[in-house]
Formats: sequence, structure tokens, C-alpha cells
Amino acid sequence: MKEIVPSPPAIVRNDYESVRELFAKNVVPSYGRFELVLSHGAGSYVFDVAGKRYLDLGSGIAVCCLGHAHPAITEALVEQSKKLIHVSNLYFTEPQGRLAAELVKRIGDGKVFFCNSGAEANEGLFKLARKFGHDEGRFEILTATNSFHGRTLAGIAATGQDKVKKGFEPMMSGFRHIPFNDLEAARNAISPATVAIMIEGVQGEGGVTPATPEFLLGLRALCDEKKLLLLMDGVQCGHYRTGKFQSFQKILEGVPGGEKFLPDGLSMAKSLGGGFPIGAFWVRAPFAELLGTGTHGTTYGGTPLACAVALKILEVIEKENLTGNADKLGAWLKSEIERLAKTYPGVIKSARGMGLILGIELTEKIPAFAASDKSAALQFVNRLHAAGVLTIPAGTQIVRLLPALNLKPQEAGEGISKIEEVVKSLA
Ligand SMILES: *Cc1c(COP(=O)(O)O)cnc(C)c1O
Repeated sequence: MKEIVPSPPAIVRNDYESVRELFAKNVVPSYGRFELVLSHGAGSYVFDVAGKRYLDLGSGIAVCCLGHAHPAITEALVEQSKKLIHVSNLYFTEPQGRLAAELVKRIGDGKVFFCNSGAEANEGLFKLARKFGHDEGRFEILTATNSFHGRTLAGIAATGQDKVKKGFEPMMSGFRHIPFNDLEAARNAISPATVAIMIEGVQGEGGVTPATPEFLLGLRALCDEKKLLLLMDGVQCGHYRTGKFQSFQKILEGVPGGEKFLPDGLSMAKSLGGGFPIGAFWVRAPFAELLGTGTHGTTYGGTPLACAVALKILEVIEKENLTGNADKLGAWLKSEIERLAKTYPGVIKSARGMGLILGIELTEKIPAFAASDKSAALQFVNRLHAAGVLTIPAGTQIVRLLPALNLKPQEAGEGISKIEEVVKSLA
């Protein structure tokens, strides 16, 4: 395909200060934003308002799976918007039905509900679990420490991190946390009120921690034994990021008994729309009728426009074998981070993750970071910005790489050499 990298804008104005001022005056300051004002992008590159180019290894927190300004997405948006953008869920539309079929085909026998974000998708699964246990008075959902499930009231109650709950107490009741990858703890935590267990296949915000095959298979057996729903949050680690459509398909590849594994519910968002907002949850067949007419809904869920984009993304991923790319480039990137950890043990402690959901774990006390009270992860990410690379911190010690699935080998190489520059300067 022809390389389309737009040249920087001809006139460099001082847009940075004016945009910052608009935010300072008018935007709720709930985000800790980096000092970058971005204006446009192409593929895995984005440009700031001064024309500086960055290699984007975060892709909008695992959202822009085909990179920026992908012509197929533009075309899907334009073509569908000429027909129908929205009609509400009072009617049937073909794109929603076709997208549901594509998702069912990739996960397993079941049905799909469409919404607009990851938090909403999880909210739907929480309601599914409550409905499932309602007549027996069961309502409690167990989630993992260090998990992340979104920022709604139920989402922060479900999230196993105190920092998202602080200041918003009392928490919505009905959630308790269990240690991740600890099957015995899960078994011991189950109470007569427990109705479901929710985990991420790979914890993203928590620092790129994959579930073990034993944990997944063990939870499946435990949930069957105790009549609990096994719910998985695939919002960040799903959509081919691990090299398979869903992380559990990758984690259980070649593991005896793994080919039969399915959760009972699965949430999706982020890469599903490649930047256009769409979320969804899938429910396994035996439970697919639980949310009957009138029990759940949303105005915007599954609009023809969002579904047309999501369908196009699945088509491009298949046509361009981006799954293989995630596998191959992911393995190479991880081996390179491992090499850096060996060469610079004072800076990098380990490489984490699989496919294109990777983490660089920084060592505890990097002398060059001692002067600032900002976390090591933040300081590292800032230095990478100066070097022209976007990455995403997770917690205080981990820097995530969540690049587009169509990242090119030479871009991966550029990323590693810039990361190495920064690591070297810290060693
Ligand atoms: C991002 C994320 C969410 C929340 O998604 P939103 O679209 O921000 O509501 C939920 N779970 C996981 C694992 C996520 O990474």
C-alpha cells in the first residue's frame, strides 16, 4: 500500500498555548493530561500542533487498531453516513445484525448487545449477573485486585484499585475483590450471595498481567460447580491484540481442555470501533435470553454507523492478516524489551504481556528520577515524548505498548531504538 504521511502544516502558529487556555477555562480537569496538543495522524504516526511527529505506540489506549486516518475507516464512515447514521433500537438495521453475527462467529454460540463504551458493556454484564441470580437472592460479583472495569459507579465498585474509588464512597454494594491468578482464594471468597466472577484475560491498567491457563480453566470449573457466571472483560486485551480474537483463546492455545473454554459473558469496546465509539457484550447461549424485552437498553447502542465501521475493521484485520502481525511483531518487541532488561538491569526490570499488549517494567529506584515526585512510569513516558514516541503508563512502574495492529516492522524498530536511547540516558 502507498505510504501516506502528511507533511507538517506549513504555518506553525502558537496553537499550543491557545488550546491549553481553552481547556484551563472550560474543560473539567478530571484527567492528568500530558503537555501535548495533537492535531492529526496517519498510520502509526501523530503530529502535534507545532508539526512534531510522534510514533504512536499507545494507539489511544488500545483503541486505534488500524492506526490513524485509515482510508477504509474513512470510507466506511462516509458511505454509511450517506445512508443512515442512527435510527434507534426501536427498529432493525442490517449492520447491527451482521456485526453481531461476526462477533458470535469469533467467540462462540451466544448473542450480543451493543452499547457505546467499555464501562457500559461491563454494566450490562453486571445487570445480566443480577438478573441471573435475582430469584435466589444472589447478587454479589467477585472481581480481581488491580483490575479495571470502568468509571461508572458500578465500574469503580468493580475495579480492584482504591484510587478510582476514593472520594466517591459509599461504593455501590455487591462487589468484592479477590487476588488475581489465585484459584484457592476465589473458591474461599464465594458466599451464598455470590452470583458471578469477572476478570480481565490480561489486566491492562493493572500493569499488563495475563491470567494463567490454570486460573482460567480452574475458574471455569469453579463457576460451573457453584452455578456462577464467569464474566470476562475483554475491553483492552480483546480484538486480536494478543494475536487471537480474545485473550483467553491465546492464553489457552494448545492447553489441554482449553479449546472448549468459554466465559458466560464477555465485554468489548476500545479496538472494536478503531476510534469510533462502540461497546458490546456477548452472552453465552444458555444465558442469552436472560435480558428479555424491556430489561436493558441504550439510545445509541449499535448504530448503523458504528457497526459499519466495526465490520470494516474486522474485514481489514482479516484481509491484511493483522493477527499474524500482532503475533510476530509482538514477539519481536517483547524479545527486544527483554534484551534491554538484560543490558540495562538498572532501568528495566522485565518485559510483560503478549502480542501487542506489552509492558516495560521499570526498576524501583532509577537515580535520574529521584529529583521528581512524579512516578517512574510518568517520567519515562515524558522522556519518550521528547524522543518522539507515545506510550502509556500503568501504575507507577509500568509503561505500556499498545500499538496499532498494523504497526510496521520498521516502525517497531524505530520504537525500540528510541526507547533504547531513553533507557541508555537513564542507565
Ligand atoms: C478501558 C477499559 C474499560 C472502560 O472502558 P471505557 O470505554 O473507558 O468505559 C473497562 N475495562 C477495561 C479492561 C478497560 O481497559
